Amino acid sequence: MLSLPVAVDTPQHAAIGALLDYTCEHPLPPGTLVRVPLGKREVPGIVWNRAGGQRAEAAQLRPLAEVLEGLPPLAPAWLALLDFAAGYYQRQVGELALSVLPPELRRTDDSQLGRRLTRLLREAPAAAVAAPPAAAMPELSAGQAAALAALAGLPAGTALLHGVTGSGKTEVYLRAAEQALAAGRQVLVLVPEINLTPQLEARFAARFPGRTLVSLHSALTPAQRINHWLLAHLGRADLVLGTRLAVFASLPRLGLIVVDEEHDPSFKQQEGARYSARDLAVYRGHLEKLPVLLGSATPSLESWQRALDGRYRRLGLAQRIGDGAMPRVRLLDTARLVRQRGVLPALAPPLLDAVQQRIARGEQSLLLLNRRGYAPVLFCHDCQWKSGCPHCSAWRVFHKADRSLRCHHCGLSEPVPRACPDCGNLDIAPLGRGTEKLEEQLGALLPGARIARIDADSTRHKGALESSLHAVHEGEVDVLVGTQMVAKGHDFRRMTLVAAINPDGALFSSDFRAAERLFALLMQAAGRAGRDAAQAARSEMWIQTASPAHPLYQALVQHDFEAFANSQLDERRRAGLPPFSSLALLRAEAREGAVATAFLQAAAEAGAGLAEAPAVTLYPPVPPAVPRVAGIERMQMLVESASRPALQRFLTAWLPALHGLRPRHKGLARWAVDVDPLVI
Ligand code: ADP
Ligand code: ZN
Ligand code: ZN
Repeated sequence: MLSLPVAVDTPQHAAIGALLDYTCEHPLPPGTLVRVPLGKREVPGIVWNRAGGQRAEAAQLRPLAEVLEGLPPLAPAWLALLDFAAGYYQRQVGELALSVLPPELRRTDDSQLGRRLTRLLREAPAAAVAAPPAAAMPELSAGQAAALAALAGLPAGTALLHGVTGSGKTEVYLRAAEQALAAGRQVLVLVPEINLTPQLEARFAARFPGRTLVSLHSALTPAQRINHWLLAHLGRADLVLGTRLAVFASLPRLGLIVVDEEHDPSFKQQEGARYSARDLAVYRGHLEKLPVLLGSATPSLESWQRALDGRYRRLGLAQRIGDGAMPRVRLLDTARLVRQRGVLPALAPPLLDAVQQRIARGEQSLLLLNRRGYAPVLFCHDCQWKSGCPHCSAWRVFHKADRSLRCHHCGLSEPVPRACPDCGNLDIAPLGRGTEKLEEQLGALLPGARIARIDADSTRHKGALESSLHAVHEGEVDVLVGTQMVAKGHDFRRMTLVAAINPDGALFSSDFRAAERLFALLMQAAGRAGRDAAQAARSEMWIQTASPAHPLYQALVQHDFEAFANSQLDERRRAGLPPFSSLALLRAEAREGAVATAFLQAAAEAGAGLAEAPAVTLYPPVPPAVPRVAGIERMQMLVESASRPALQRFLTAWLPALHGLRPRHKGLARWAVDVDPLVI
């Protein structure tokens, strides 16, 4: 009898390592999928490649229940990636490894899985994307050629491709992919959002008609997901395109990883195992000794600093293709307008004029307002009542379409009251403006104009987003109102004006990354205007702001990412914030805020006593921006260190202590550690 370490998901054994030993009559290679008995249940597991040392039951080792025959084992590099990710993000390796496999492979109710899989494998699923006729390959611009030449000299390591929107980054991805494919390797392309996959998928499929391309993201059916995963795992898929989860795809002959829009916050998983797919992609490249190409018009300050330090190869595309101009950025001072006129209309008169000109010329305008619904709050002028959510520290948003008051945090939705619930006043009024209201106001300001709205509400039904986007592309829309959903990626050919309606909020956020996110969003949004080179010269980006002198807007006027990045990095350096330090956030949740706080305080005491403590700073517990959601109070505590390895050593020593504390804090709903938190 041999003893084998198996990675299983054992939440009830959270305090112990996730590898358990089982016996087996024959040796099995690491990476083999198995089913093992655990207590009274039988659970899926993966044979691991380092000693376990834990026993499921104290008494005697139990035998494996089943081996999934026919499925080639996961590669050692895959196990190493998962080992690293679990260690770095402070998760159990079995929990993480199993959670990133297709659900079909880990169904606990399916004892026939092995047999079904052997069927599945024989069927050899066909290419997932029907290839359209091959598109002509453009001649490379000088910038693209230089970037590719630099990449060719980079057999491994990370390159940061910084190029304005429309500068031809995607073409660089395509050419780099072509080289990897020609060398018989697989290519993994990560994108931040599912919405953006079809567009990129179409470009890759058109360029590589003979290749098998599959997508991996959460909108796939379970059958599609396992099919695509298997194609990748068996090495039959040449190109794998997906969202953050795809960084864990099993790819036996991987040769290149591309991360498009590498700065995008969507690459960070915000629940459960809070990993950054961008950072893991870089690590995976390092592990498998292959090149990683990060692309963005507004790189994250973390990546930018690494490029400045020479740890990433920096590649730049300074010009739009065809020498197309970047849109002219115009700042509209709303504070002055209010002083002059006393009120602020939805669109300030010069902006309204500019939109009207677009309509007259048959061009399109995009108005961005990052707040959905009709008004963010209802208000009673008599008694000051406001439409608060009873379960959250947030206002309920007025949605006029179905006359509801909805909490965007817990989902509570109720009909709008006829009168003020407190004083009976019949005249309760919406305060402020959301996309629904802007759309309505535009109807009055621009009679006859064809106005459309795209936000999470207007696209709730399947197919709604596609049909709205189709209408915009077909020129059936004059003015598009939208949230940040439409600011990214879309190639609107008739759009010559983009306007951000009062985006100032982020300038005053307590989150030190808010300005970075706003700058990226506005640069992206600007990139939606003037994509057709013939119209680029007259394309404009307008910003209605009360702080036009703010350095962020001034850098935007110059399209100067470097100026913005350098000033932000100076501030971060002085304040000792990332990328000049490393952070982790300990979060705790309970019905009673005091319980969450007490847990964090006890955690801080336990941490302070550790040998690793001198290298880190533990900040006092504070509430997050929205402290109460769905009746649960949330508190958080920041852990900071100038040294990433020191932070990691501290967390590794601290976590067992936290598990140990848990039973003494009755009423604690849950706690979690977020390494490299993005939203603070
Ligand atoms: P980005 O990814 O930087 O936003 P794209 O790669 O989408 O830019 O390029 C913008 C447009 O220019 C696309 O329509 C693309 O087909 C076209 N394009 C890219 N490279 C070239 C080139 N070398 N010559 C001509 N057109 C190009
Ligand atoms: Zn009232
Ligand atoms: Zn709520």
